[in-house]
Amino acid sequence: MKTIAKLLAVSACCATLAFAGCASVNQTDTESLTLSELGKPAIGVVHEDVTTLIGERDNLYSLAALTLVNRDWQAGSETRGHNIGSILVNNATGEIVFYARNSNKILASGCQHGEVRLVTNFLKCEKAGPYLGDYTLYTTLEPCIMCAGMLTMTQIGKVVYVQQDPSYGNTQEIIGTGNYPIYYQEATVDSDFKSRLESSYNKSGVKSITKWLVGDDAYQIYNDAEQALLNYKPIFDVNNDVYDKVMKFLDKDLLERFNDAMAKQCPTGKFKEFY
Ligand SMILES: [Zn+2]
Repeated sequence: MKTIAKLLAVSACCATLAFAGCASVNQTDTESLTLSELGKPAIGVVHEDVTTLIGERDNLYSLAALTLVNRDWQAGSETRGHNIGSILVNNATGEIVFYARNSNKILASGCQHGEVRLVTNFLKCEKAGPYLGDYTLYTTLEPCIMCAGMLTMTQIGKVVYVQQDPSYGNTQEIIGTGNYPIYYQEATVDSDFKSRLESSYNKSGVKSITKWLVGDDAYQIYNDAEQALLNYKPIFDVNNDVYDKVMKFLDKDLLERFNDAMAKQCPTGKFKEFY
């Protein structure tokens, strides 16, 4: 099993055993387990420590998602959409294979969330789909119920978000307690940037989190997150590979794309024939 796949197995097992305490999980005991053998994930978000192997890995991808949003920051009235974005990581290779940002305004549609745009467009790709069991999604804001439902039905294994959404969040718990046969593992890394985003928003008195996300406080934190990522030195040697993959992703032209232009992100550069 490749190193990153081993990390995924340990990560999923930690979530499964979250109620018993992740510290009790022995990595060597979990390396041979497959995801299906690990069973249903815990209900509720798993908080990861940034100084652990898995926490550092998930923090690097989370910082990549924050940087994706920062590089196309939206302010003013004529905008693409909200300052929210998502990336998709192949669990076996660690590569960031797809990304998308919220485009509600430019597409005049209330359902063009980053997660929806990422999943629906990625599954159109040649050689992709119909499910996402081999991938992890990293997103800057806790998924809403529309996105959580779609991520559940596409059987994604794990979702990691940065900032909690006190209004439209709590969605993995809603699905997990709703007797669904499947649902994903949800995690968040307790990083400085998560803490700053959540405390700054909570203190702001602004009711709408998306309105707060166009303000100067949010912009400063997103800028700082990008700088921290660019200057980051991994604690764990195995995460040097993750860092290299994140840097390779950030070297790309990360313009937001629509319709056929979105297909350029696909592994073969094309959507399936019937699209
Ligand atoms: Zn959503």
